[in-house]
Amino acid sequence: MKNNYLILVNQEQPLPRFFQPGQLILGRDNVYLEEQTHLKLMALLNEIDGQQSIRLVNGFRSIEEQQLLYDTSVKEFGMTYTKKYVAKPLCSEHHTGLAVDLTTSLANETHLISPEFDWQKNKLVQLFLTKMSDFGFIQRYPEGKEHLTGISYEPWHFRYVGRQHSKKMQALDLCLEEYVLQLGAGVQ
Ligand SMILES: [Zn+2]
Repeated sequence: MKNNYLILVNQEQPLPRFFQPGQLILGRDNVYLEEQTHLKLMALLNEIDGQQSIRLVNGFRSIEEQQLLYDTSVKEFGMTYTKKYVAKPLCSEHHTGLAVDLTTSLANETHLISPEFDWQKNKLVQLFLTKMSDFGFIQRYPEGKEHLTGISYEPWHFRYVGRQHSKKMQALDLCLEEYVLQLGAGVQ
């Protein structure tokens, strides 16, 4: 089956229970990503000379792993925090292999749920944000779109949608929920 790079996964649209991701690749930092997502991310990091300074924190995650992460987060950080940042199993786009969390922190003790990727502190992050749409990536949970995505602003979480779509989404300032809705309505 052809990969659906525009697949929408959120609290209201969980994946089917037996969802199968596309071909996964074990890439850098022991992170699994869908083949094309991995390829384009590496190209982007090469382009900005970020292979040394940007680490991959999370990529593909199984439904079982998401359950464990969710339960652990509730235990350690409480329900309010968990609801803000951790999707329920089947509702996380990390199941698709098309999403990646990045950090500029090279410390071993990186926070797994909210890793540091701060454009205000880091020029390389600014460069990443400037170039990402050329390589098919979008910031999936932008500031100001929380009411649409259902997830708080996550500066570290990126999603591969393919260049054709990422360029349009950036130009029109649309999050994936808005974009998919517009495409469905025939507006291109
Ligand atoms: Zn993420």
